[in-house]
Amino acid sequence: MHEPNHSRINLPDEAATAAFAALLAHALQPGLVIYLRGNLGAGKTTLVRALLQALGYTGRVKSPTYTLIEHYEVAGLHLRHFDLYRFRDAEEWEGSGFRDDFDGRNICLVEWPEQAAGLLPPADVSLTFEILQDGRDVLLHAYSDAGQKCLNAL
Ligand code: ADP
Ligand code: MG
Repeated sequence: MHEPNHSRINLPDEAATAAFAALLAHALQPGLVIYLRGNLGAGKTTLVRALLQALGYTGRVKSPTYTLIEHYEVAGLHLRHFDLYRFRDAEEWEGSGFRDDFDGRNICLVEWPEQAAGLLPPADVSLTFEILQDGRDVLLHAYSDAGQKCLNAL
């Protein structure tokens, strides 16, 4: 039997986003690559912030808008939070050292993965945020066994 590799959830408000982030936090395994898709203001950074807080991180979680990446170590996990909105070209990728961040151990959460298409390793999971009149819908997709395990654990 195959589990469905995608599903959709509704997050009526920011508290629902935080509750979902807490579930996801506890379904993470080292090495997972998670793409976060959706327009500006859709809730990608909000999800990562709530996820880190659910893991026990008490510091400030800044959007990596300008730095492109932020590093976190919490609950025995190594996380990398990317925001590639301002990422421009392949040369920047080579110079950035980002390739080394995808080492099979770090959990990589990537906003705007389409900006580095062809450079980024493939996702295990993608979360696509859709802005509704009230709240958000999130489409969850798994692309690997590890990704499927993660979604099954939610
Ligand atoms: P992104 O990183 O996708 O550009 P942000 O997380 O920075 O978006 O901003 C998302 C905005 O939407 C924030 O103002 C946040 O309070 C709000 N928000 C997050 N989740 C929800 C939700 N489920 N329903 C309504 N508003 C939300
Ligand atoms: Mg963001």
